[in-house]
Amino acid sequence: MTEPATLPPSVYLRRIAFLLERALEPSYRVQAFRRAAAVVDRLGAEELARLAAGPGAGLRALPGIGEVTERVIREALAGEVPVYLRRLEATGGRPVSEGAAALRAALRGDCHTHSDWSDGGSPIAEMAEVARALGHEYIVLSDHSPSLTVANGLSPERLLAQLDEVARLNERLADQAAGGAAPPFRVLTGIEVDILEDGSLDQEPELLDRLDVVVASVHSKLRMPAREMTPRMLAAVANPHMDILGHVTGRIVRGRRGRPESQFHPEAVFAACADHGVAVEVNARPERQDPPKRLLRLAVEAGCLVAIDTDAHAPGQLDWQLGGCERAFACGVDPDRVVNARDAAGLLEWSRRRRG
Ligand SMILES: [Zn+2]
Ligand SMILES: [Zn+2]
Repeated sequence: MTEPATLPPSVYLRRIAFLLERALEPSYRVQAFRRAAAVVDRLGAEELARLAAGPGAGLRALPGIGEVTERVIREALAGEVPVYLRRLEATGGRPVSEGAAALRAALRGDCHTHSDWSDGGSPIAEMAEVARALGHEYIVLSDHSPSLTVANGLSPERLLAQLDEVARLNERLADQAAGGAAPPFRVLTGIEVDILEDGSLDQEPELLDRLDVVVASVHSKLRMPAREMTPRMLAAVANPHMDILGHVTGRIVRGRRGRPESQFHPEAVFAACADHGVAVEVNARPERQDPPKRLLRLAVEAGCLVAIDTDAHAPGQLDWQLGGCERAFACGVDPDRVVNARDAAGLLEWSRRRRG
C-alpha cells in the first residue's frame, strides 16, 4: 500500500471487498465488507469515532459490523493501514486465517533457498537482503548437489568456494547491523543434497558435516515403486548428515508439467523422521504444495518436526511462506514443532545435537 494512512475506514473496507471479489472468494464474505462500509458511511465520521471510543459494545452493536470489520475500522481510525488489507495485498487477495498468520509471524527464517550458484536467479547477497527486509533473521543457503547437473549442482570445490563467499557476506551483514544500518541477519550454510537411488547423499560426508543445515531431497527416479522408494528414503533419513527431508513426494500440482506423488510407505518414513529428529519440510512453492495435507497430518501425528520453507529460486519467492503456513496450520502444526520458528542459535543447536 502506498496510500497515505489517513483514509476513512469505508475506503479500506471497500478495497478489501474488491480484492476478495477479484480472488473469486464467496460473495457472502465480499458483501460483509461492503455492508460494513455502507454502515460506516451512513454513520458519519464523528459518530463513528464516538462509538469506537465509547464504552460497551461500541461498534459491534451496529448491525453488519463483526469482529473482523470492527478491527479494520479501529485500525483505520488509528491511522494505520488495516492488517487484514495488508495481508490481502500480500497474497493477491486470498484471505489468510488468523492461525496461519500467527504461524507465519512465528517464523524467524527460511531453511531452503537457492542462489545463482546453482539454478537460482539471484546472487546470495540479494537473497539475503530481501529475506532481511521480510523480517527474517536468517536464511539457509541450500544450492543443489553435484549430480543435479541440469541445475548446475555444486562440486565439492565450488561448495567450498561458496562457503568463503558466505563468510565474507556475513561479515558485511554483521557490520551493517553493528552500525545500526539494518537488523541482525545471517546466511547459514547449507545444501539441498540429492538422495541418490541407493539412499546415499550426493556430497562428501566431511563437507556435509561442515554445513549448518542440510536439506535432502529426491530429484531422480521419482516413479520407482514404493518397495524401492521406501528403503531409499529410510536410508537417507537414517543418515546423520541430513536434517530436513525436502519436498517429500516430489509432486508438481500446477502447470503443464504436472507430476504425481512418488510412492512410498509414509508411516514408515515419518516414524523414521520422528526417531532421528529429522524435520519434514512443508514446501511452500505454489506448484509443489508438498507434502499434501493428508500426508502432512500423518507426519504431525507421528510427532515429526517441521520446516516451513519456500524453496525460493528468486528473491520475490521468499514471500511464499504464508502458503506453507496455511497448510501447516490446517494440519495441526504447532509453532513449537517448527524448526525455523527457532532463532539461528536454536536452529544450529538442533542440527548439531541431532547429528551427534
Ligand atoms: Zn528440490
Ligand atoms: Zn530446492
